[in-house]
This record gives sequence, structure tokens and C-alpha cells, in this order.
Amino acid sequence: MQQTKKRPLSRYLKDFKHGQSRCAHCEKILDRMTLVRDGDIVNKIAISRLDTPIDDEQWQQERGRWMALCRFCGDLHCRARSGPFDIIGFKQYLFEHTEMSPGTVREYVVRLRRLGERLANDSIQPTLCADEPDLGLAPWLPATGANNYRIALRKYAQYLCSPSRAAGSGIY
Ligand SMILES: [Zn+2]
Repeated sequence: MQQTKKRPLSRYLKDFKHGQSRCAHCEKILDRMTLVRDGDIVNKIAISRLDTPIDDEQWQQERGRWMALCRFCGDLHCRARSGPFDIIGFKQYLFEHTEMSPGTVREYVVRLRRLGERLANDSIQPTLCADEPDLGLAPWLPATGANNYRIALRKYAQYLCSPSRAAGSGIY
């Protein structure tokens, strides 16, 4: 019988981490990274406890379920799942299809995320109209800077109508 060499999953993950230099979402060079498995963040302590012995072949299958994200995307990733907006796709759209600076992209994303949190808290699922995306959302826009939120919503509506989204080329 041939003996296949097994190592704990955490060891494979350690090597995996060292092999990742850029965020899987925004391609920023990774300084501190967040590991995500099947869309859920797995923290350092949990990773150190993943001691199931596996061999190279099993790791090849497991590997596809893991992603390394920068802290900003990692943070966004878990919050985005609870809100009504596709924040991750929106951010990718802004990076790939507009000339916005990373700082501006971040501002737009943060606004939409905040609005998404407000809506989620009140269990509101907005239906966005492409011409007037802020229609009906006025009660949830903050009194200060409401216009900035409207601008972010308009951009989001553009994203929803963009061919890149229609083709489903995003990660999700
Ligand atoms: Zn990132």
C-alpha cells in the first residue's frame, strides 16, 4: 500500500497565506490579510485549530474554497452579506469601470454600506428605480450629506444596469 504524506490543514493554510500577495477582490498588495472559506471569515485562532491531516490531493480540492482578502475587503465582505446592496460587486465595478481614485471608491462604498445597514435594521428591501434610485429612500437618508448618498445611489443604479453585471462576470 502506498503511503500518502499527510499534513494538518492549518499547515497547508500557512503556506497558502505566504503564497498570496494581493487581495482576491481589489488586488491591493496584502499587508494584513483575512482568510475566507466559502464566504465566511475564518480567524487566526480557528485556523490554528484546523488540524485535520490531509494530503496534497485533498488540499487541491480544499484550496478552491479559500480566499485571501485585505482587511478592508474582509470587513466589507462580512457586513455586505447582511445588507440589501451588492456592495462587493459595486466596489469592483467602480474600480474596473470608472476612473475613480481608491479614496473616492471607498467613500461611495462606505456611504452605501451605511445606508444598507440602516435599511437592514428596519428590514427594508429597497427596489431601485434606474432613473430615480433615491425614490422612496428619502426617509432613510441622513439629514446631513443626503445629497452625497443620492449620488452614491445613482452610481449604484448605474452598476445594476451595467453590462458587466448583466453578464455576471463578477465573483458572485
Ligand atoms: Zn481588498
